[in-house]
Amino acid sequence: MLLQDKVAVITGAASARGLGFATAKMFASQGAKVVIIDLDAGASKAAASQLGSDHLGLAANVANEQQVNAAIEQVLAKYGRIDVLVNNAGITQPIKLMDIKRDNYDAVLDVSLRGTLLMSQAVIPTMRRQRAGSIICISSVSAQRGGGIFGGPHYSAAKAGVLGLMKAMARELGPDNVRVNAITPGLIQTDITAGKLSDEMRQSILAGIPLNRLGDASDIAGAALFLASPLSAYSTGITLDVNGGMLIH
Ligand code: NAD
Repeated sequence: MLLQDKVAVITGAASARGLGFATAKMFASQGAKVVIIDLDAGASKAAASQLGSDHLGLAANVANEQQVNAAIEQVLAKYGRIDVLVNNAGITQPIKLMDIKRDNYDAVLDVSLRGTLLMSQAVIPTMRRQRAGSIICISSVSAQRGGGIFGGPHYSAAKAGVLGLMKAMARELGPDNVRVNAITPGLIQTDITAGKLSDEMRQSILAGIPLNRLGDASDIAGAALFLASPLSAYSTGITLDVNGGMLIH
């Protein structure tokens, strides 16, 4: 068991087909106590209870500092420690550059970028005290190639911002033995992509993927397990591409 008795907080993990819930399942199967944080309390609790009775589901908007801090207080009251944080919550909007309005910008950057900062700030004092911790930030291939398939330029910017924040956190927290890394998923089949892919689009996307398939949520969960566990003990500040070869650089 790679995460026996470790406490792992995963944001945006209530969506049944999502990357967060797949990661939650993978972590629980490796012995972790998992805390699912998502917008809706009922959905978070239901997702946590699917994992078993040791796990916790909480409501918080990751972009809201009070809600984030209140959720982390509850985690500490129940488990007394936090070993892993996965900053997974994110939203996308498939709009073009000139259509981005202030509300679009605020919505997308708030969840991915502010959310990653606030959640990390909330757990860092605990990880520093423990002199151990792993923070995993979910970015996107769209940060690296200037657009994915469904996200607009503001989404690429938010996810590129996550990479910069991840690297700066890794540098600052290394001396405390807190590691910070990112995953850049390619096109993974979840609700974020559901129903948006015509057969024609799928074929043209597959032509650009050497492994010749779209990703599964479990592909990301496996990468997250590696970064959460001692298997990656000497890695911090890295960007782990999980994209089937869609971007080789
Ligand atoms: P999803 O829509 O299935 O899940 C996202 C979850 O985040 C949902 O449960 C949603 O309720 C939650 N959420 C949204 N805003 C929130 C907020 N303010 N506070 C707390 N929770 C919030 O999407 P997914 O495909 O599983 O995406 C997970 C992450 O992976 C996102 O950051 C996404 O940008 C990233 N990503 C996905 C893909 C892909 O192809 N699916 C590719 C690259 C990156």
